[in-house]
Amino acid sequence: MAYKLYIPGPVEVSEKTYKAMTTHVFGHRSPDFVELYQSVQPGLQELFFTKDPVYISTSSAWGVMEGSIRNLVQKKVLNVCSGAFSDKWFDVSKRCGKEAKALQYEWGTPVDPEDIRRELSTGEFDVITLIHNETSTGTMNPLAEIMAVVNEFPEVRSVVDSVSSFSAVKIEKDKLGIDVLLTGSQKALAMPPGMALLCVSEKARQRAATANDRGYYFDFLEFHKNHEKGMTPSTPIIPLIFALRSKLEDIFEEGLEERFARHEHLNQMVHAWIDKHGLETLPPRAFASKSLSCVKNRYEWDLPAIINHLKTNFNCVIDGGYGKIKGKTFRISNMGDETEETMKELLNNLDQTLEALNYIN
Ligand SMILES: *Cc1c(COP(=O)(O)O)cnc(C)c1O
Repeated sequence: MAYKLYIPGPVEVSEKTYKAMTTHVFGHRSPDFVELYQSVQPGLQELFFTKDPVYISTSSAWGVMEGSIRNLVQKKVLNVCSGAFSDKWFDVSKRCGKEAKALQYEWGTPVDPEDIRRELSTGEFDVITLIHNETSTGTMNPLAEIMAVVNEFPEVRSVVDSVSSFSAVKIEKDKLGIDVLLTGSQKALAMPPGMALLCVSEKARQRAATANDRGYYFDFLEFHKNHEKGMTPSTPIIPLIFALRSKLEDIFEEGLEERFARHEHLNQMVHAWIDKHGLETLPPRAFASKSLSCVKNRYEWDLPAIINHLKTNFNCVIDGGYGKIKGKTFRISNMGDETEETMKELLNNLDQTLEALNYIN
């Protein structure tokens, strides 16, 4: 039974994208594959605002998040933590056997660049990890301000996760000086799960070259060596590369600026709905994500009942909160292919649900 997803990942996938995935596969060392791989590069580089190569990983985002740690950290990593995904990255650093420090914020608190300056000034760190858009709390960190500080420390390699913001808002990788910018397929790109994209600077590759415990599957140098031949290190998820090619067509047909503006507009529609009900976002509004909204459940609504009602009566779902703020917050996604019409429909369905459950009248 298919129902429409307004959860912040996986998000709704279009029929066109699903259809692209049914293209027959071919050998991943064949000229057909090289043609496919190379056909998506220019669009990907445009989307990453970069001249660096964009590698395709057959894994979810966590694969390349862990891989970045293994490729880059030799001294100590500063993991900036302010939600479920960023907190987990600190845990992953330690599991990789690395020296790591968590710069910890309360969930929903935006990252303060001054704190990063203070930490990096100690000279202890050679890598920093940052989640641009903390999906668990709906918080969008001030990336330009943060990167301006990080770039004061030339020995520090930066790894930025844009899983739920990539292509929803403009992230100019090269201009911002980000070493590794990564994303996954099933959130802002509105593709099925199973693929990650990572764009790696030459400086990051040079660092990786001096590491002797990079492993194999996520080795930046393996990615690069194969990239130069129009290939991936191991057999990739070819159906998702067909989906990616189709998605890139959609994105450039709409236009990048138009895509960013659409996300902004749909996000404002959700914010207007939040205001109408006297609700609040978890982060301060100035740092609220543009691709999803994490809303405080201030009236203590029964979220599972709301979600169940939405699902059975309107064939759609939202999210009832993630990790330790499950039940205390709920989340609504406006990322991917949503339109004014689909968001209006959701907000309308939500109002009818709240009425049916006697939360509003
Ligand atoms: C979902 C998410 C991840 C993890 O993605 P997986 O696909 O589960 O590996 C990482 N970072 C952010 C910000 C996310 O939203």
